Amino acid sequence: MEIITLPVTAFAQNCRIVICKQTRQAAVVDPGGDAEKIIAELAKHALNLQCILLTHGHLDHVGAAKVLAEHFAVDIVGPQQDELFWFDALPMQAQMFGFAPVTPFYPQHWLNHGDIFPLGELRFEIRHCPGHTPGHIVFYEAEHKIVLVGDVIFKGSVGRTDFPKGDAQQLLNSIKQQILTLPDETRILSGHGPDTKVVTERISNPFISGKYG
Ligand SMILES: [Zn+2]
Repeated sequence: MEIITLPVTAFAQNCRIVICKQTRQAAVVDPGGDAEKIIAELAKHALNLQCILLTHGHLDHVGAAKVLAEHFAVDIVGPQQDELFWFDALPMQAQMFGFAPVTPFYPQHWLNHGDIFPLGELRFEIRHCPGHTPGHIVFYEAEHKIVLVGDVIFKGSVGRTDFPKGDAQQLLNSIKQQILTLPDETRILSGHGPDTKVVTERISNPFISGKYG
């Protein structure tokens, strides 16, 4: 497994290109914007793009999804269907995030908790982690001990819950039940900022340890 990280948009959102080394099949996870940059990177490594995967429906994570899907004739997959209203609201989100106007689009396939999504020889387990948004999912690859978490948890922090349908208690439950139960050495790849590890956040994340009340 290989992962290329491309910070995109004014929010430095970590778009990830996830690659199965054996088959050179790839998926783009959370292409928030800068489609040309992502297309150039895929071409540079001669990758065979299979799909676009989305952790949630915020525009800084999905802004380039439609352009990429059409350019490569691939499907947009995920998140979980409770996220529908954020896709309905894409034009409003453009104002909210200060992005250029966008027309709504929708994933071709929603994902559910417990689904296994294959990419070449990789197997991503889908875990539903509501709280930041209601249909937020994370992609866990057990063999390579990697979890792509979008805006659920960050190094030393957690996702915002002040957006519509955000829920702080629900987010904390998601983190405790779906992220911190993963093996200690699992690498956490967040939607913004540096990577971290499950054990690091379990011990030192102040929002989880309760240091901040
Ligand atoms: Zn978000």
